Amino acid sequence: MAMPDTSTQAPANVEGYCVKCKATRSMTEIQMVTTKNGKPAAKGKCPVCGTTMMKFLSAKANPTP
Ligand SMILES: [Zn+2]
Repeated sequence: MAMPDTSTQAPANVEGYCVKCKATRSMTEIQMVTTKNGKPAAKGKCPVCGTTMMKFLSAKANPTP
């Protein structure tokens, strides 16, 4: 278990909805951002058309239930 200790961990794979493609895509160039409400979100680009996509994340990123 060797996880790199980064303060803003961008998930390796984030799926978001591309409004241009009207489809769900795995976004590229993922960046962790915080919305005005203080909620974490992932910002990335559609790999197909390059449109910026946003995916809101839960406050606690917990992959295991
Ligand atoms: Zn697209």
